[in-house]
Amino acid sequence: MAAVAAIESTAEQGRVSVAYDDVLRWIRTFAAEVEANKEYLTQLDAAIGDGDHGINMQRGMSAVLGKVDAPAGDDIGALLKTVGMTLVSRVGGAGGPLYGTLFLQMGTATSGKGELGPDDWAAALEAAIGGVQARGKAEPGDKTMIDALVPGRDAFKAGIAQGDTFADALRRSAEAAERGMQDTIPLVARKGRASYLGERSVGHQDPGATSAHLLLKTAADTWSEAEQAG
Ligand code: ADP
Ligand code: MG
Repeated sequence: MAAVAAIESTAEQGRVSVAYDDVLRWIRTFAAEVEANKEYLTQLDAAIGDGDHGINMQRGMSAVLGKVDAPAGDDIGALLKTVGMTLVSRVGGAGGPLYGTLFLQMGTATSGKGELGPDDWAAALEAAIGGVQARGKAEPGDKTMIDALVPGRDAFKAGIAQGDTFADALRRSAEAAERGMQDTIPLVARKGRASYLGERSVGHQDPGATSAHLLLKTAADTWSEAEQAG
C-alpha cells in the first residue's frame, strides 16, 4: 500500500527538476518557435520599429543551434552562457544583445548545475531580468520585453510559493507572460526604437514582449512533457 501511495504522489507532483537535456530541448524548441514566428515578429516590429526583430532572433537562434549541437554536457550554466555569447556576438540591434544578456545572466545564475529545481529557475529568471534591466534600463510599462518577463517571473514565484508543482508554475508563468505581452498594446513605448514614435506606438503589440512570451511558453511546453519525451 505504501509503495502504491508513493508512486501516485510522484505522478501527481510531476517533475521536480529539469536536467541538461531538458534545457537543451527548450533552447531548440525556442529556436523552432522563433523560426515559425519570424514573419509575425517582423511584422510587429515593422509597425513600431524597423521590421527586423523576427530576422534578428531567427539569425541569432539559428547560430545558437549550430553552437550547441555538438557536445552533450552536464553544466546547464555553461550551455546558457554559450547561448548568450552567441546572441551577443551574432545579432545586431537592441534585441540581440538584450537576449544575449538574458541568457548570459541565466548561465551565471545556474553555473555548474546539472539540474534545475523550481528555486533555481526562479533565480535564473531573476538574474535574466536583472541583466536586461541593467543593460536596457527598461521598467515595467515601458513597452518592452520586460513587460512579458516580469509578470512571467512573478507568476512563477507566486505559484511555487503557494505550492504549485513545477509544471503548473511554469504554465502560470507562461500565461502571465502572455497577458503582459497583450498588455503592451495600449502602452506608449519609452525605450528602444519604438519610443521614437511616442504616442503613435499605442495600439501595437511590442515585438520583444512577444518573443519573450515565446521564451517562457516554450519552457512551460517543453518541461511539462513526460520526463522521457524527446
Ligand atoms: P532593434 O530595436 O535594434 O531593431 P529588435 O527589433 O531586434 O532590435 O528588438 C526590438 C525589441 O527590443 C523591442 O520590441 C523591445 O521589446 C526590446 N527592447 C528595445 N529596447 C529595449 C530596452 N532598453 N530594454 C528592454 N527591451 C528593449
Ligand atoms: Mg527592430
